[in-house]
Amino acid sequence: MLSIDTGYITRVLQDLVRINSVNPRLDSSAPGEAEIAAYVADALRARGLEVAVHEPQPGRASVVGRLRGSRAGRSLMLNAHADTVDVAGMDAPFSGEVRDGRVYGRGAFDMKGGLAAMMGAVKALADAGRPHGGEILLAAVADEEYASLGTEDLVTRYRPDAAIVTEPTALDICLAHKGFAWFEVTTRGRAAHGSRFDLGVDANMHMGRVLADLDALERDLRARTPHRLVGPPSLHAATLAGGSGLSTYAASCRLQIERRTIPGERRDAVAGEIRAMLERQAARDAAFDAAFEELLVREPFEVAEDAAIVRALADASTAVLGRRPAYVGQTPWMDAALLAGAGAETVVMGATGAGAHAMEEWVDLASVHQLSACLAEAAVRYC
Ligand SMILES: [Zn+2]
Repeated sequence: MLSIDTGYITRVLQDLVRINSVNPRLDSSAPGEAEIAAYVADALRARGLEVAVHEPQPGRASVVGRLRGSRAGRSLMLNAHADTVDVAGMDAPFSGEVRDGRVYGRGAFDMKGGLAAMMGAVKALADAGRPHGGEILLAAVADEEYASLGTEDLVTRYRPDAAIVTEPTALDICLAHKGFAWFEVTTRGRAAHGSRFDLGVDANMHMGRVLADLDALERDLRARTPHRLVGPPSLHAATLAGGSGLSTYAASCRLQIERRTIPGERRDAVAGEIRAMLERQAARDAAFDAAFEELLVREPFEVAEDAAIVRALADASTAVLGRRPAYVGQTPWMDAALLAGAGAETVVMGATGAGAHAMEEWVDLASVHQLSACLAEAAVRYC
């Protein structure tokens, strides 16, 4: 078994938490990823990796370190996002304090613990004389918490055979997550004085019909066969705005819908269900007029249990942990879908902790050390 430098990993994790890397798209006063990227780049260079920094937008830096193996083999990307959500209301968001075997602070769990474990894994491989083949790419990416600028950029530059995303999973192996689609529906009416029912067309009332249809669709989604790891699809009416004043017929009403998708659902079919619903309303009433727009689609993710990277990680984890990790699914979207979409066989495994996007966040230090050993062993087996 490779020897993991637990002291190094703890120090790196504390350093990472102490660097403010709040996503500037979530808090306009936040600094972005430049400082944390410089820290990771220096640390990887000190371990002998070749390092590249990519900046798809100024200040939004991702770092990729390359550790070549001692023989030919496959390439594996270890991927973690370096940005965090905001720190509003937190007592000591950048303390990095260790208490009772936990490291506290914003990002400790989501997901600087994963990043520190990756850095510990490449150190173990470098210290052991690069016992792996092919190459290991360590990617610390920007902007996962908003629009995934970082991974979207990296998949155009690197073509690894496989990827492990170290989002937190409590040391289980995540084989699937949900996707999502954001849609906007705008009903158009005709403004008129509130007394002139003969002239006005009420866009808000027409949106009511859309909402009733969506409510029925939502119930139907729950009745469909759920995915074995991530459950059923769902939707909700996320934001709603219509009308301009009490004495005016509403000229327009705008609804934003979030639809959560499961592996196997097709993007055009998901949008098509809502389009068809609007067409049926228009066929029923000539005054009904609605526009449909697709705002953003992020695909769901799934990998087979017998994929080579999953087998390598499961075998490595069994050896390290002394138990076989469970196969699980998660509901939130992750960069895993982008990597898989670009052709890398992808799986997710991360540390134990709590408080992602919450007021108190911590990661279990022992789980970060164990994760690091699992990653290093998986790299030797896979590459
Ligand atoms: Zn995350």
